[in-house]
Amino acid sequence: MAVVGEPVEATLDNTTSKTDTSASAALQPKKVFMRTYGCQMNVYDSDRMTDVLGPEGFTTTENMEDADLVILNTCHIREKAAEKVYSELGRIRKVKEERARQGKEMMIGVAGCVAQAEGEEISRRAPIVDLVIGPQSYHQLPKLLKTARDGTKVVETEFDIDAKFKHLSERAARPPLKRAPSAFLTVQEGCDKFCTFCVVPYTRGAEVSRSVEQIVTEAEQMAVAGVREITLLGQNVNGWHGAGPDGNSWGLGRLLYRLSEIDGLDRLRYTTSHPRDMDDELIQAHRDLKTLMPYLHLPVQSGSDSILASMNRKHTRDEYFRLIDRIREAAPDIALSCDFIVGFPGETDQDFQDTMNLIRRVEFGSAFSFKYSQRPGTPGALMDNQVDEDIKSARLAELQELVAQQQTAFNASRINMTFGVLFERKGRMPGQIVGKSPWLQPVQVDASEDLIGTIQPVEILEIGRNSLFGQLKPGHHDVVGQ
Ligand code: SF4
Repeated sequence: MAVVGEPVEATLDNTTSKTDTSASAALQPKKVFMRTYGCQMNVYDSDRMTDVLGPEGFTTTENMEDADLVILNTCHIREKAAEKVYSELGRIRKVKEERARQGKEMMIGVAGCVAQAEGEEISRRAPIVDLVIGPQSYHQLPKLLKTARDGTKVVETEFDIDAKFKHLSERAARPPLKRAPSAFLTVQEGCDKFCTFCVVPYTRGAEVSRSVEQIVTEAEQMAVAGVREITLLGQNVNGWHGAGPDGNSWGLGRLLYRLSEIDGLDRLRYTTSHPRDMDDELIQAHRDLKTLMPYLHLPVQSGSDSILASMNRKHTRDEYFRLIDRIREAAPDIALSCDFIVGFPGETDQDFQDTMNLIRRVEFGSAFSFKYSQRPGTPGALMDNQVDEDIKSARLAELQELVAQQQTAFNASRINMTFGVLFERKGRMPGQIVGKSPWLQPVQVDASEDLIGTIQPVEILEIGRNSLFGQLKPGHHDVVGQ
């Protein structure tokens, strides 16, 4: 999966910081400004970085000007990702200079996939950067920060994923802190698929899975800390194969059955999946587990067999259709989501129409779509039959129009339905709270914020562009999402 969504920029706020300040009372309080780009994996990793910085006296700030430490947690998915990081660093340099005039320090770190891909080049092109740190080394952040503060530029991009996973397990063994009702849990990192458009196998390395015990321990801790919904994360999450307590290798389906036994965990999700790794047990889990939400993000990227082959996706369009049929047989009301790339090298009008026909046949609840862009170091970047930008733009607009129609139709099909909504935060309007439907749609309701962290039955009255609007239905016992 690499194209897991329109890369979003999320600035972590103080309310979601899970820093443990108990050990840091004697330390000078410091502030970290964390800017997160890209997929949920990066959001999860940013949380982990704030976790390890907590005992060092750091709390989070939303104002870069107040920060003693700025970290850009970068994403390499989008076009010219590295150039965008360099121009952002140019803006940060001015803030750093202003703080220096006031006699205040500001250290700057670059993390994430651009850090992994660019390595020393970042220190060379942007000397203001004190620390370049790849995704497998976040647990070492305090130590590396100290080295950088002592005046040594740090570039740490080793692939020691076992050490990172070990650290995550140690963290899970600590007393739980209060957590938001919905949380991510990384079960797997890296990818062995080598799709020809994707940088993930190069920036995140080969697939590595955490053990069942590690994952269950962390999930149990999350449940005690108030988490009601966990989304299992991995670049190729359904490729997860972890050592089980019985000595056998478990697949994701079996793991979901085990996680569904944890008291207090009401909802499970996972993202992002590859069609080749949807095995029978995982599909059965969608049929059997009330806790497994009826939503599946299953990227196909293209509906043309020749483009799928050129992308090295390792499946055909017919195999995708057969898979969708099996999933819908197991879970008829499932919402399917997808990623599409238009204008991959060599894509003809007919190839594109094959993609449009695939969308019409499957009918998605939502989808992310992108124009193909060349990523340095990937085979696709070297293909000589690149598609004209104007053609890509026209195809993308046509595809997005069709997906928008399907998304609206799916959302409209929820009107007058009553189902469980997990409330997560206050809405923009006074008196409004926002939660998630079982199908991952935002749901807005006028209700007390005391309900945040609970699942309540909601009747849907109308739909907006991206959200559903409803009213509480106290006492309603519904079948989905409770
Ligand atoms: S190479 Fe792996 S991470 Fe990238 S799109 Fe393919 S399956 Fe996804």
